[in-house]
Amino acid sequence: MQSYYGVSDPDGTWNENQSNAFNSLISLAKGQRDIVQAGEACLYERSKEVEEADIASTEVQELVSEMLRIVKGRGVGLAAPQIGVKKRIFVMEDTEEGMSDESEEERERKKRYPFKAKVVINPVLIPIGDASAAFMEGCLSVQGYRALVRRHLKVKLKGVAPDGKPIDVDLTGWPARIAQHEMDHLNGVLYVDRMEKRTLRRVDKVNAPVPTEKHDEFGACASVGETATGGSYLSNKSAIAGAEDIETLTKKSKNRRRR
Ligand code: ZN
Repeated sequence: MQSYYGVSDPDGTWNENQSNAFNSLISLAKGQRDIVQAGEACLYERSKEVEEADIASTEVQELVSEMLRIVKGRGVGLAAPQIGVKKRIFVMEDTEEGMSDESEEERERKKRYPFKAKVVINPVLIPIGDASAAFMEGCLSVQGYRALVRRHLKVKLKGVAPDGKPIDVDLTGWPARIAQHEMDHLNGVLYVDRMEKRTLRRVDKVNAPVPTEKHDEFGACASVGETATGGSYLSNKSAIAGAEDIETLTKKSKNRRRR
């Protein structure tokens, strides 16, 4: 069982062992790529599934370790297209240091707790319930800005770990937000595509209040925090495109085994 909020570990595939293995991988990372910024074509295109047989390849293992190295100390998540690689892989990690500028109260509100680095290959996100949360979000590929983004409060995350083991966990709060943000990257979506557009602000204004007055043209802004509804944006099929892909992949690997 995980020590941080909202993450179950039913089959031991989402545990600390992953992180220990990564620490040695990180030291092997060669790392020449860096994070691409909004405007770069790869951020707007759909990334491709990693073939099951390629997961153990040096190319994929090195890519994963490079992503872990790059994200460390810079953000809470990184998707492969953000370093110019159109593969369906993302990493996520949240540390005590990373959230040190937030009060206990703020962390509680966001359900944000530290967790060790996780890698998900060919992820699939399935929303759980209708509850949503709107909080300020940023992106390593849109540097210097924040905006209010509504996300599902809870999601089921499935995928494959770099050691080939299946991942199947339920996430709540900030980890669920990170997974949704990174999943979007794999589908060529940036948070600015989903943001409450009148809440975009420079990062140094992150705590400034969002407009409360209903605008004639744009209507009212969402209010910050959790609500029992509003999580329906993922009912758009393209947002959960991974769901179909993993079925295809599973079928493919079954076929392969049959042969
Ligand atoms: Zn991002």
